[in-house]
Amino acid sequence: TQADVATPKRTRDIIAKYGFSFKKSLGQNFLIDQNVLRNIVEAAELDKTKGALEIGPGIGALTQHLAETAGRVTAVEIDQRLIPILHDVFQGTENVHVEHGDVLKLDLRGLLEQQFVGLTGVSVVANLPYYVTTPILMKLLEEKLPLENIVVMIQKEVAVRMAAKPGGKEYGSLSVAVQYYCVPELVCTVPHTVFIPQPNVDSAVIKLKLRDKPPVEVADEDHFFRTVQASFAQRRKTIANNLSAFIGKANRDKVVPLLEGCGIDPARRGETLSIVEFAAVSHALQQAGF
Ligand code: SAM
Repeated sequence: TQADVATPKRTRDIIAKYGFSFKKSLGQNFLIDQNVLRNIVEAAELDKTKGALEIGPGIGALTQHLAETAGRVTAVEIDQRLIPILHDVFQGTENVHVEHGDVLKLDLRGLLEQQFVGLTGVSVVANLPYYVTTPILMKLLEEKLPLENIVVMIQKEVAVRMAAKPGGKEYGSLSVAVQYYCVPELVCTVPHTVFIPQPNVDSAVIKLKLRDKPPVEVADEDHFFRTVQASFAQRRKTIANNLSAFIGKANRDKVVPLLEGCGIDPARRGETLSIVEFAAVSHALQQAGF
């Protein structure tokens, strides 16, 4: 076993040794707290029969914990300057593979197939760069990758929106999108003092357990998500008004009977509708030719 990467001293030593300078534009905030790392890894329910895909390993703070717990770790890092550092840190650690690339552009399905042969399941575990959290998570979910869990540190406010239930101001199209694919659970909130450099937002760890199938059958997912987006277009407006704008003013008299046909009061707001109700509305709109 080697010395912990994620201590303030070792992190500063590595940074000094390689003359590394943080790039804010890449969301580089490195973890320096062993307890937070243990909580993240524990939430992912890994063991030696499982694989971990890490996004953005930095200098390897989380990678090291994953390597101890999982059968194999593949870590995708965009910053070329970190690749030789990671190779040094994990020299001799046989179950760690470092992949240089932009996670948003990589063929992740191909990478998973190539990297995790023979393992019984794969989880994504990461302290994500905050500037691209939502695009990364939506890519993982929309590509329907064969994942068991996604456990990620993200901006607290985004975590709260992902886990929000209908009826509150946090609930929106992001909540519906995430909950269509996963069951979310907030694991813990994390103070900004556990990072170098410290971010100026609060962070949280969220666990997304992938569903075997969505909570409701949706014939046309693209239409479903466009209906959801439209329903939240202007949050102060009723669902009837938002959907009128969606299908065109000329058809607005069709919206109220359509909603009533779904058992939904047209005076409600989008933020009160459940995923099952959005699916019913999307289906009814399609049946009516919209
Ligand atoms: N895992 C490390 C830790 O916890 O200390 C670093 C986390 S830091 C918040 C985010 C990392 O993601 C950085 O190393 C950054 O270079 C990397 N990164 C940013 N954008 C990326 C992208 N599109 N694809 C892959 N890695 C990315």
